[in-house]
Amino acid sequence: MSRRYSIWALARNALSHHENWPKAWRSPEPKPAYDALIIGGGGHGLAAAYYLAKLHGMTNIAVLERGWIGGGNTGRNTTIVRSNYLLDENAHFYEHSLKLWEGLSEDLNYNVMFSQRKVINTCHTLGEREATVRRYNSMRLRGIDAEFLTREDLARLEPAMNLSQDVRYPIVCALAQPRGGTARHDAVAWGFARGADSLGVDIIQNCEVTGIDRDPVSGAVIGVQTTRGAIKAPKIGIAVAGHSSQVAAMAGVRLPIESHLLQAFVSEPVKPFLNTVVSTGAAHFYISQTDKGEVLLGGELDGYNSYSQRGSLPSIEHVIASATEMFPRIGRLRFMRQWAGVMDMTMDGSPIIGKLPVPGLYMSGGWCYGGFKATPGSGWCLAWTIAKDEPHPLNAGHTLERFRTSHMIDEKGAGPFPKAH
Ligand SMILES: Cc1cc2nc3c(=O)[nH]c(=O)nc-3n(C[C@H](O)[C@H](O)[C@H](O)COP(=O)(O)OP(=O)(O)OC[C@H]3O[C@@H](n4cnc5c(N)ncnc54)[C@H](O)[C@@H]3O)c2cc1C
Repeated sequence: MSRRYSIWALARNALSHHENWPKAWRSPEPKPAYDALIIGGGGHGLAAAYYLAKLHGMTNIAVLERGWIGGGNTGRNTTIVRSNYLLDENAHFYEHSLKLWEGLSEDLNYNVMFSQRKVINTCHTLGEREATVRRYNSMRLRGIDAEFLTREDLARLEPAMNLSQDVRYPIVCALAQPRGGTARHDAVAWGFARGADSLGVDIIQNCEVTGIDRDPVSGAVIGVQTTRGAIKAPKIGIAVAGHSSQVAAMAGVRLPIESHLLQAFVSEPVKPFLNTVVSTGAAHFYISQTDKGEVLLGGELDGYNSYSQRGSLPSIEHVIASATEMFPRIGRLRFMRQWAGVMDMTMDGSPIIGKLPVPGLYMSGGWCYGGFKATPGSGWCLAWTIAKDEPHPLNAGHTLERFRTSHMIDEKGAGPFPKAH
């Protein structure tokens, strides 16, 4: 068990110039066999390992990460957390996840900097207004917090917002979720890693899974091949985001997932002028201000399949043009960094969390634009499914099977509006 972080630990370590903090997690050599393996050391894989150890007593497990933990989409996203979904399966799952976020820093004894600053989705047409009212009502009926905002409300909440009617996308109204907000992406990966490690989980970095071994008679998984040797395990969970199709194919499973690029970029830090997280489906961008003062922006997919993690200039131009229309003052900012992540896009916009058609093989993937907010909920449900070999009611609908039987959860990865993040 690692030592708890506290005000006393901070004071004690200040006396020794912060040179004696214990390592947050170990770097063990892989053992030849475990009770379960998780492939992928992003937030989802680490959360699954943490909840497997904490809630299901499975501590002889390992997370295998081909690079460094949190170096995938977990460390590349715009960190928006919300639960304003329309369809039953997603609404209950994401609300469970949001509730886990609300206690996460305390649970992990690690500050994930969860900031419930309100998430606002603007509407720009009367058609969008109809859809917003429907979503608002469905959220309220499920007991999920929601606010319907007029243009006057928006002027009060975001004084820098351009509410003129003389623009390409005039704002009509907005939907807000007050409990939505942002969290610190690195801290989420590190907090789950530290929590899992302290419960005995081996986190093995620089260990790429190159093959999944199956029993020739039963077809069940029996282990993996990695760049650090073979490792045996009767249960394997896949949580590799944009590489889901590649890794599932190692066990002969074909997934209805495409890998696309999604970009984000960040400006120089400036004084606070954005109070909430704002997103728009019509103009395709989302914006927030980080705790350091940087303006953080993201947009739509690049529109072609790729694993490059770079992204193209037309998407940047589109996002900057739309964002400058809504917040004219950002036109004077210098943008400092740009990057992309490899998105795991399903055809109905909802994730696959559960058993795959190979005994002992499980996955959490197909997160489309919205998997960061799902991190604790996904880990929690994947852990349950692996431990009990059956899904929890919260992820019972998120099966791979639904694509064969046409029981889609047709949310289009949208959150409030088609095509929003
Ligand atoms: C630009 C951008 C903005 C986004 N904005 C938001 C947002 O605002 N809100 C939101 O909710 N979501 C957002 N997302 C989506 C979100 O980031 C992801 O859905 C989520 O972080 C996925 O987490 P993960 O743990 O599944 O994947 P990752 O963090 O990508 O982790 C997967 C890990 O698997 C490893 N891996 C892959 N193949 C192998 C292998 N063969 N062997 C071993 N390891 C392997 C990778 O190295 C990686 O570290 C955004 C994504 C991007 C790119």
